[in-house]
Amino acid sequence: MSRRRQIYEGKAKILYEGPEPGTLIQYFKDDATAFNADKKGTINGKGVINNRISEYVFTRLAHIGIPTHFVRRLNMREQLVRQVEIVPIEVVLRNVAAGSICKRLGLTEGDPLPHTLIEYYYKDDALGDPLISEEHIACFNWASQEEMQDIASMAIRINDFLCGMFAAVDIRLVDFKLEFGRIYEGDFSRVILADEISPDGCRLWDMKTNDKMDKDRFRQDLGGEEEAYQEVARRLGILQNDDGGPGEVLDMSAHRGRLRGGTKGAAPKPKK
Ligand code: UDP
Repeated sequence: MSRRRQIYEGKAKILYEGPEPGTLIQYFKDDATAFNADKKGTINGKGVINNRISEYVFTRLAHIGIPTHFVRRLNMREQLVRQVEIVPIEVVLRNVAAGSICKRLGLTEGDPLPHTLIEYYYKDDALGDPLISEEHIACFNWASQEEMQDIASMAIRINDFLCGMFAAVDIRLVDFKLEFGRIYEGDFSRVILADEISPDGCRLWDMKTNDKMDKDRFRQDLGGEEEAYQEVARRLGILQNDDGGPGEVLDMSAHRGRLRGGTKGAAPKPKK
């Protein structure tokens, strides 16, 4: 078999040329980075779980009419996706204060925001992905006004849908990052959802205990990141015996010490 041509290697994924023009294969690695790649490590089995979680989320979003790059999962670590021209903007949706907004505005982690916030960051590692406004996007022509309207309305729908989807399994969607890409159809182009949606790019807190179930476990050296990612997948009902995931229900209490994330506010403290 001839070796596939690698198109791009990112921090957590590799993109290979796909089987047909206009397609790519997205390979999920176990590598984890934080703080603009200053901190590097691996989370065993992360790639396998994120492949499954992202497949599940993108499939559910397609069902509510969100156009996405996802075509189908190919195997444990790979999915077939449509090739897009990536819009160089990270779209962050926030429901609860956490992460960079706390530092920037002096908020306390866990404070609910008066309403959902959309933020835009310019995708440039060398600059540390700076926060930008729609004025910058228009000024430097990173996306058209029309594209930004589509992106913002899709982002809000995605947030509403995912808040409900996670709430149904007792998980609070604190914040998350989306990326969009352009596809060209004749003389026209449109934006569709690209990249991935997984605990790498979302903050997910257990609603009852406030345990962190996302990459903050790695960022903040809390430990138990494998178990946390598996637990998200298990609650969504997407880990089966043959996937290398836990065969039986994972008892969180066994990991309680390791999964405790030390968040304030929002949810009540667990009963001992
Ligand atoms: N995020 C991401 N990639 C980035 C920056 C942020 O996936 O390059 C996600 C992050 O996981 C969180 C949300 O976007 O769910 C908001 O991140 P924040 O701005 O608080 O930055 P951080 O605290 O991660 O530096």
